[in-house]
Amino acid sequence: MTLVALVLINTQPAAAWGNEGHTYVNRVAAQKIPATIPLFLRSAGAIAEIGYLGPEPDRWRSPSEFALKNAQEPDHFIDLERVSWLDPLPPGRYEFYRKLYEKRAATTDHPDDYLPERVGLQPYITMEVYGRPKSAFREFRQLRTAHQPTQAVEHAIIFYAGWLGHYVADGAQPLHTTIYYNGWFGLNPKGYTTEHHIHGQFETAYVAANINAKDFAGLVKTPERLEDPFERYVAYLRNSNTLVENVYSLEKTGGFKAKGSPAAFDFTTQRLAAGSQMLLDLWYTAWLESAAPALTEHAAPASPAKAAAPSK
Ligand SMILES: [Zn+2]
Repeated sequence: MTLVALVLINTQPAAAWGNEGHTYVNRVAAQKIPATIPLFLRSAGAIAEIGYLGPEPDRWRSPSEFALKNAQEPDHFIDLERVSWLDPLPPGRYEFYRKLYEKRAATTDHPDDYLPERVGLQPYITMEVYGRPKSAFREFRQLRTAHQPTQAVEHAIIFYAGWLGHYVADGAQPLHTTIYYNGWFGLNPKGYTTEHHIHGQFETAYVAANINAKDFAGLVKTPERLEDPFERYVAYLRNSNTLVENVYSLEKTGGFKAKGSPAAFDFTTQRLAAGSQMLLDLWYTAWLESAAPALTEHAAPASPAKAAAPSK
């Protein structure tokens, strides 16, 4: 392998959960879809496709597709410590950008830390992708009622459902919600690792060697309808962020080395299950909410961006 290739590999941002973890989270969620959701999303073929799509956005990180890589990399994380002053988070990405640029303008010490692409856009991409299966479910219902073919929209829903799973699983990985995403820095009284290996060691090497989908499938329960998906999703991310130090202390005691420790196994299976549960809850909520007719512009909740940027 050439030096250039080595450097390229080493500078690749870590991909949450690796191939195995993402596939498992999606597959387990798909296997738990209740019978109240149409069969096309629960079939063996759909489950296999949704599993395949778990790692899909991590396939968009190659310099071969520069624009894609560049645009979507901030979608996989959010450094919640950088936005501790912003609670609640605004529901739309452009309102979020505006708040960050205001903060950046008022900051003299490392102002670029507040650039949206540095802070990360995790909850925004997740809700944007969540809207797609919800909208497509609505189309499906209309076509079914009109006795029209539904195969095309079914394919779209399967794709959207699988794509959504990637970001939801990323959000269950504590290191995707923090400035300490791959090594501690600054004050370090507990002596956590400052090496840049913990991220991949936990989510990729340890999971691939020690965890299977069946290890956490039993932890995923029947889905719940989320009254406010964005609020619940942000709470889920904040909960992940409270577990950052757990990852570091497990690493410190060798929990992720080789066969790992029972504590690391419990922690990791619970995080993977949390990802599957949130994904299943979002699919379920999207299906139930799709029964309501689409809001029109007049009925839509007022958006601060609307006055500033009339739709074209
Ligand atoms: Zn990711």
